[in-house]
Amino acid sequence: MTRRWLFADQLGPHFLGGDQPGDDGRENVLLIESKAAFRRRRYHRAKAHLILSAMRHRAAELGDRCRYIAAEGYRDGLAEVDESLTVVDPTSWPARTLIRDLGRTRDLRVLPARGFVTSQADFDHWVAGRRHLRQEDFYRDARRRTGILMEGDEPAGGRWNFDADNRLPPPRGATTLGLPEPLWPVEDDIDAEVREQLARWESEGVAFAGEDGPRRFAVTRDEALAVLEDFISHRLAEFGPYEDAALVGDWAMAHSLLSVPMNLGLLDPREVIDRVVEAWSDGGATLASTEGFVRQVMGWRDYVWHLYWHFGPDYVAESNALSAHEPLPEWFRNLRADDVRARCLSTALAEVRARGWSHHILRLMVLGNWALQHAYDPVEVTEWFTSNYVDGYPWVMAANVVGMALHADGGRMATKPYAAGGAYIKRMTDFCGGCAYRPDRRVGEQACPVTAGYWAFIARHAQAWARHPRMAQPVRGLARLSDREALLEQEAARGPEPP
Ligand SMILES: Cc1cc2nc3c(=O)[nH]c(=O)nc-3n(C[C@H](O)[C@H](O)[C@H](O)COP(=O)(O)OP(=O)(O)OC[C@H]3O[C@@H](n4cnc5c(N)ncnc54)[C@H](O)[C@@H]3O)c2cc1C
Repeated sequence: MTRRWLFADQLGPHFLGGDQPGDDGRENVLLIESKAAFRRRRYHRAKAHLILSAMRHRAAELGDRCRYIAAEGYRDGLAEVDESLTVVDPTSWPARTLIRDLGRTRDLRVLPARGFVTSQADFDHWVAGRRHLRQEDFYRDARRRTGILMEGDEPAGGRWNFDADNRLPPPRGATTLGLPEPLWPVEDDIDAEVREQLARWESEGVAFAGEDGPRRFAVTRDEALAVLEDFISHRLAEFGPYEDAALVGDWAMAHSLLSVPMNLGLLDPREVIDRVVEAWSDGGATLASTEGFVRQVMGWRDYVWHLYWHFGPDYVAESNALSAHEPLPEWFRNLRADDVRARCLSTALAEVRARGWSHHILRLMVLGNWALQHAYDPVEVTEWFTSNYVDGYPWVMAANVVGMALHADGGRMATKPYAAGGAYIKRMTDFCGGCAYRPDRRVGEQACPVTAGYWAFIARHAQAWARHPRMAQPVRGLARLSDREALLEQEAARGPEPP
């Protein structure tokens, strides 16, 4: 019988079966733990822990049906296996190249990719003939195609977009959203065993970043389903309104914490959406929150997945439209949060150091925005996010970092850079209270580095953007600043020290 080779991000039931008609998904499984994969980058230790823990838990669940090989690399592991194999097309360009290469010399059949709501064919049909790609158009097409949140040909509730109800600043004076603590998994012997193994690898010279505290994210299907139910019961209602808000004292806010189990392949995004829509139908959530969540999963997650293939294998390496060549400074690279005085940046770095995770607004509007303002090299930034984030994989990083956060692809992904000054951070977070800097100061001791960095960024590209439909306005704003020269001098003198 053919054995199914599963990669570490293909761990749920939807990655089994489906090979032949009537296939019951009870085939034997091969899992290969590749040590070389952990040598290639300096991963966050919590990420290495999650991946290995997830693989070993899956092997334990499958029992005799699973052959588990710990090897230096995939090729070494496969050398021990002489059965014929099937594999669901993996999620990165290098892994796809590898399996096609292997398929030339052994019996290895590749099945179409899984784990997303829309198929490659759906995307191909949508993208055909389009010169400009707009996420909103993709999302609406996917809604129509799947019938999710549709009433006939019309969107449920008569609107595609509930941004006006969502995306509020945090409640005035609040230090947290006041929601129950997210559900934490209980660690077991497998987690302890993985931690011992990581310590052994470290003693042999494999380097990790960050802290590997108690496990915060689901690594089994049962845990993942429990986290989904916990989100629906306690946080879905607040998800939409506070999707873009951040508070120093509330690292999870109303987010679902489902990216890790979805990206490990433990949950099928379609089942996640169906369950959330069901909760709405039963009166357990507003349409605004439900639509906001569906938009993230089917609108954004699927979209960046398809863009990864559409933009091709060289997209990250060859996109540098803003000529950003600065290396990551040491404090940023090594998560030295305590040396940073700007509270937004120190909070974001501390969260990454503690958990290998932060919510979207810290990724995009704090860390990404800073990297954009300071012309950090897109390849280095992509590497940094991929290594440090527990939910980071090449397919999800490419468009999010290069396209969305750094605008390095010349606008293929987003029509304008997501650049912001301190005023935005002040409106959407409580970071500015108690910060050493003032968001409304551009020059001097108390000048907010994010505000000053924003204007220096606009100045660097002012000529190119003088007629840009969406950036000409800030260029004109820059020209009106009375302290422009002093600001630019101040920012030109900014060294690699932490702000
Ligand atoms: C610079 C940058 C780096 C990012 N890195 C990653 C990453 O490594 N892995 C990752 O899964 N997401 C990444 N994202 C997208 C998003 O920030 C995370 O999916 C989200 O914060 C995960 O937390 P959550 O599960 O609680 O999400 P929620 O806020 O609860 O959202 C629900 C789900 O929507 C999906 N989603 C939402 N936005 C996006 C998006 N832009 N791209 C892809 N999926 C999205 C995720 O699957 C997420 O679990 C990144 C975004 C940016 C701007």
